[in-house]
Amino acid sequence: MPDVDVAIVGAGLAGLSAAYKLAKNGLNVLVIERGPYPGSKNVSGGRMYLHAIRRLIREIPVENMPFERFVVRECITFVGEDSYVTLELNQFKVKQYTSGLVLRARFDKWFASLVEENGGVIVTNKRVDDLLFENGKVTGIIAEGDQITANAVIIAEGANSFLAEKYNLRKSFSPKSMTVAAKGIIELGEDEINKRFNLKNREGVAHAFVGITKGVQGGGFIYTNKDVVAIGVVCLLESLVKNKISIADLFEYYRLHPAIQRYIEGGKLIEYSGHLTPELGINMMPKIVSNGLLIAGDAAAFFLEGGPILRGMDFAIESGSLAAETLLIAHKRKDFSEKTLSIYLELLNNSFVLRDLKRYKNAPKFMNNPRLYTIYPKLINEIYKQIMHIDGSTKPLLGKLMLNLMFKNVNPIYLVKDIIEAMMYL
Ligand SMILES: Cc1cc2nc3c(=O)[nH]c(=O)nc-3n(C[C@H](O)[C@H](O)[C@H](O)COP(=O)(O)OP(=O)(O)OC[C@H]3O[C@@H](n4cnc5c(N)ncnc54)[C@H](O)[C@@H]3O)c2cc1C
Repeated sequence: MPDVDVAIVGAGLAGLSAAYKLAKNGLNVLVIERGPYPGSKNVSGGRMYLHAIRRLIREIPVENMPFERFVVRECITFVGEDSYVTLELNQFKVKQYTSGLVLRARFDKWFASLVEENGGVIVTNKRVDDLLFENGKVTGIIAEGDQITANAVIIAEGANSFLAEKYNLRKSFSPKSMTVAAKGIIELGEDEINKRFNLKNREGVAHAFVGITKGVQGGGFIYTNKDVVAIGVVCLLESLVKNKISIADLFEYYRLHPAIQRYIEGGKLIEYSGHLTPELGINMMPKIVSNGLLIAGDAAAFFLEGGPILRGMDFAIESGSLAAETLLIAHKRKDFSEKTLSIYLELLNNSFVLRDLKRYKNAPKFMNNPRLYTIYPKLINEIYKQIMHIDGSTKPLLGKLMLNLMFKNVNPIYLVKDIIEAMMYL
């Protein structure tokens, strides 16, 4: 008899989702987390699309979960040389929130307590160093010298999955395609946030910024939490190196930019963290099913970036939940072979996880276009400025004015190519 039915590596959203479903269905589950508590190691911009957590935890309305706020306003700001233009979507009759803002340290702790209430066991401050094998099947884990046997193991280690790499399950990635992120938490207080962002109760804002990264391919964000604001920049490492700027300097430039200062001025930076992530997405998906082994969440490369939209949390929750569903079937059949566990792939293929990742597989390629971060934000500013500028001289009509500015700033062939690619890939 193995020590547990299922051993899970990592108490992030993927690991906790799997553990929750398995424990709720009576299986003996052990989650090992290297951090001092679940959520302690998670650097995340903090907007979770709610559909997956709603499906997984049906008995608790999202309003009763520890979300900081719920997004009712989406903003995207295009930053030019000496101006910025903001596009704002305000939803004032929201029947059901689409996304919530989370501080993972708080959210994951709560989620872990829910797993424990349902009978799951979570051990923190312990790192899984290796897998146990018998006749080519994974039969457990080794954590700091302790051997724990299990019918099946779920690797939910996050983006820098060391176990998947160790067993050559992960594709090798180029350091050039790595992403670097820097995030800061600014203390402002609940009333001040409500005043500055024009919010009430648990209303929140998700704000993306383009053209604010000194020509580096990437963007910035601001998320309003309950009493702190999360700000950050996410960039391509290669572009950072090419532009000879460090992520810390870029973060400082971003933090002090007038477009950002107007929201956070006077607030105290109480936390700063940096993060280096390998390229994720469908093109980097490892082998996620083996005898006795499943991989979920970021460790399976389930992540999507499409302009202002970053999605990893809903993929982590759904893939963790589907890994659990697969293991419940395997448990009934008493068969944890690769053949039976391949049900996981079928479930993923029929879910939004692989459907969305496949549909938007070229989005990262499109987002690597440097013109998106330099020429286009500037152009939007120039067009808007000229439309609004009245000084007594007679301007060309709108169509001519726009065409003049476009052709002055972008090669028309590139412009047409970029429009076609945006329509095809996003
Ligand atoms: C800067 C940034 C901003 C982001 N913004 C968003 C966003 O706004 N919205 C969104 O949906 N997604 C966002 N993401 C992505 C999102 O954070 C991830 O997709 C999501 O957290 C993946 O969950 P996971 O459970 O797979 O991994 P993680 O949340 O990373 O959890 C993995 C856990 O495993 C533990 N662990 C690792 N190795 C071991 C080991 N050997 N032994 C034991 N424990 C181990 C870690 O400590 C960690 O707790 C962002 C990511 C970054 C870097």
